[in-house]
Amino acid sequence: MSFLSHLACGKCGLRHEADERQNLCSACAKPLLAVYDVEAAKERVTKKLWEKGRDDLWRFVDMLPVRRARFITSLGEGMTPLLEGKRLAEELGLPHLLIKDEGGNPTGSFKARGMAAAVSKARELGVSRFAVPSAGNAGAALAAYAARAGAEADVYLPADTPAGIARECEAFGASVHLVKGLITDAAKEVQARADAGEVFDISTLREPYRAEGKKTLGYEIVMQNGWHMPDVVVYPTGGGTGIVGMWKAFDEMEQLGLVGPERPRMVSVQAEGCAPIVRALAEGKEEATTWEDAKTGAWGLRVPRAIGDFLILRALRESEGAAIAVSERAIADAQRDMARLAGLDASPEGAAALAGVRALADEGGIERGETVVAFNTGAAWPYR
Ligand SMILES: *Cc1c(COP(=O)(O)O)cnc(C)c1O
Ligand SMILES: [Zn+2]
Repeated sequence: MSFLSHLACGKCGLRHEADERQNLCSACAKPLLAVYDVEAAKERVTKKLWEKGRDDLWRFVDMLPVRRARFITSLGEGMTPLLEGKRLAEELGLPHLLIKDEGGNPTGSFKARGMAAAVSKARELGVSRFAVPSAGNAGAALAAYAARAGAEADVYLPADTPAGIARECEAFGASVHLVKGLITDAAKEVQARADAGEVFDISTLREPYRAEGKKTLGYEIVMQNGWHMPDVVVYPTGGGTGIVGMWKAFDEMEQLGLVGPERPRMVSVQAEGCAPIVRALAEGKEEATTWEDAKTGAWGLRVPRAIGDFLILRALRESEGAAIAVSERAIADAQRDMARLAGLDASPEGAAALAGVRALADEGGIERGETVVAFNTGAAWPYR
């Protein structure tokens, strides 16, 4: 059962009802985050419970938002492997490199985690029509979960998104809308339709529960690492839901008594052609400004402005982490290495994470003996 208590604004802290449809904070229009009754959950959640459970992320159901099991819409998302890097590790001189391989999720990326949680909760709250702006994978994931739940989906994609994504969305029965411009332009169209009451806007961090699905990444890497925090987590960052979710997950794990106060250094990797978080961190800003003329072939990282920017930056700073930008060339090299040295059909975003590990190791930002978890956030095939 879910120990969900309420929602709290990530900026001003204002409390909101969890069992009503919610988007942003009613006072300051910032993201809402889920709060659980951890004292009660503590009586139930143990390492043993989480080690056994069902073979997907719903083993963490006590710390997920869905209250009634019949609303769970699942395709077996989560509980992906944490792979040893082996030959990649040797090549990089980092013997304790681990890769969390999200490519095996339904629809080929970790977007399945967030959509499974958010679609399930929204169905419980009576939503039957969803819309999302997407750089690619979020649209495909929404389309699949909406199909499974018997709901309708409208997916808004920048017109230059790889054609495979639009075909996949349509195959799942979603309506695809191609938009001139970037994901931020697609988002405006979704907001207009949501304001008119036609659809529920399920954009990441504009609704509270996709982050809940993605936080399970944090639960899993710690559990799979023998209940130890890694030293460094390297994450290719677009909207930042994964970083924000994991940072929250680590706090929850500590409150549940599963881990101590230690934390990994969180590292955001972005593409040189769209690096608003890297720039904001370097400039000591609390929020990022819009990246003009965003360009990168790592589609999921082509996010010129993220509504949760202050939450990403907070996690990076509190963890004494870093943010680095990598070139398209470095991404292509890393993609080739992940294929040839690890047998992984890595997405360009996952390749960016590995390129980030390489850059950080070269600068001395990671020591040889440290345990590093790099995220391959998706497979390459959806973009073909
Ligand atoms: C969406 C996406 C990202 C970015 O994830 P955020 O949590 O939004 O920062 C990275 N990689 C892939 C493959 C994606 O689809
Ligand atoms: Zn607020």
